Amino acid sequence: MLGQFVNEPYTDFSVPENRRAQEAALQEISKKFDRQVPLFIGGKEITSERKLKSFNPSNKDQIVSTFHRAGKKEVDLAMEAALRAFEKWRWVAPKERALVLMRAANILRRRKMEVNAWMITEAGKSWIEAEADTSEAVDFLEFYAREMIRWSEIKGVTPFPREYPELNYIPLGVTAVIPPWNFPMAILTGMTVAAIVTGNTVLLKPASDSPAIGYLLVEIMREAGLPDGVLNFIPGSGGEIGDYLVEHPKTRLICFTGSKEVGLRIIELAAKTSPGQIWVKRVIAEMGGKDTIVVDHETDLDDAARNIVASAFGYQGQKCSACSRAIIVQSVYEKMIKKIAALTEQLTVGPTENPENYMGPVINQASQEKILSYIEIGKKEGKLVSGGEKAPGNGYFLKPTVFRDIQPGARLDQEEIFGPLLAVIKAKDFDQAIQIANSTEYGLTGSVYTRNRYKIETAKKLFYVGNLYINRKCTGAMVGAHPFGGFNMSGTDSKAGGMDYLGLFMQAKSISEKIG
Ligand code: NAP
Repeated sequence: MLGQFVNEPYTDFSVPENRRAQEAALQEISKKFDRQVPLFIGGKEITSERKLKSFNPSNKDQIVSTFHRAGKKEVDLAMEAALRAFEKWRWVAPKERALVLMRAANILRRRKMEVNAWMITEAGKSWIEAEADTSEAVDFLEFYAREMIRWSEIKGVTPFPREYPELNYIPLGVTAVIPPWNFPMAILTGMTVAAIVTGNTVLLKPASDSPAIGYLLVEIMREAGLPDGVLNFIPGSGGEIGDYLVEHPKTRLICFTGSKEVGLRIIELAAKTSPGQIWVKRVIAEMGGKDTIVVDHETDLDDAARNIVASAFGYQGQKCSACSRAIIVQSVYEKMIKKIAALTEQLTVGPTENPENYMGPVINQASQEKILSYIEIGKKEGKLVSGGEKAPGNGYFLKPTVFRDIQPGARLDQEEIFGPLLAVIKAKDFDQAIQIANSTEYGLTGSVYTRNRYKIETAKKLFYVGNLYINRKCTGAMVGAHPFGGFNMSGTDSKAGGMDYLGLFMQAKSISEKIG
């Protein structure tokens, strides 16, 4: 029997011993650059002639890994391996599958500093952001292990005279898992192990910016005793093999997290039947956001400002939940701008190997250029308060940037930018603030700062987002407590880390035997 789920505690890096351990892990992994990352298919490491490289965004000359790249041939090989493995894995008892995840959680805990170190270098995460990412991956393993046991014990039917009715949740088949680079351990692990623990087999295509981190999960699951072929790792360019993987007639389920553009394409392609396909493909797609913090005058303004800045600039604003709009009622607008600007000016930007830097680089050059182009748009749409340019260094550094007086309907009010850029918008009152907050096509996270109980109730009813927070930041969802997923163009609202999630990876079989 397993104990109750509790979230993994974060390592406290103010403790000298912990700090030394993280430094030592960074030292240790740097000896492994440029790490060769193979494909892993049917329990075997496989190399390919074609390769891609991942770089340290804090130091663009540093190659972190060279990964062997899957083409269509390797996708086919992986599909065959996954189909073969499915015929055995699907019959393994839920508890036994859950125990593989529990073992993996312990291995990941043991390797935490090392996993953090890869994220600090390959994904440009600060120490604490990397620690939060690894801890969330541990949480997903622990939570879904328990959830699988719970699902296997659900009695989903009522008694019926002279029959023995049952409802059994069974796996779907081969699952294509396609994660983003921004939570390269947590999201990748969560989606992959949810598919595995429910009895499916997996083709995992990691994001091209963070393949070495993805491969760590393969190592961990191998050590945890996952049978060959259940998890197949096929790094490669999404643009090249993504469509093939999605359209493949043997793909049963696609579990995707990433941009709206790619997510909608997957949904469209998966809806078309390929020759030889005998099922309706299921798609879980979690996509972008235009997340907002609303600030009312009846609140602690310092607390609101602190949490706006933390939500906007933690991990350089590259979280789907990051605050990219602060909508502030007019009576406290000027005061709030001063507070936000003062806190933003204090943020340090630089290589994330140095724990003193609060912000690191954005992920790559294309991302840096895209954000700089939005800064130019912002100069036309509003007034620059802070930042607005590159920060020094040999990485993709940007200063945390704040624009004020952005009008509802402007591009900075509507479009996902995915970087350290905050648009501040004035509202005449609380009701109008909620109206503006709801006016994009997205609906992922939102937060409201007010002490007024009526306004809290209004926000709970009318603020249309998948994850709403009251008087706290809009980032930092915790597995178990804050099931995560968005409305509208933010996705299919799958609620990762929640009690409904595993149901998406299974189908229910109703059986009834006549007994009298
Ligand atoms: P992305 O460009 O959409 O890529 C996501 C994944 O899709 C990557 O593995 C990518 O591979 C792959 N891909 C690209 N083209 C594909 C295609 N045609 N078919 C199948 N797969 C394809 O997103 P990203 O830049 O990695 O991540 C940032 C986005 O993710 C943001 O919009 C953010 O809001 C969103 N996000 C959402 C959540 C959420 O829970 N809602 C969480 C995190 C991030 P390559 O890397 O090889 O291109």
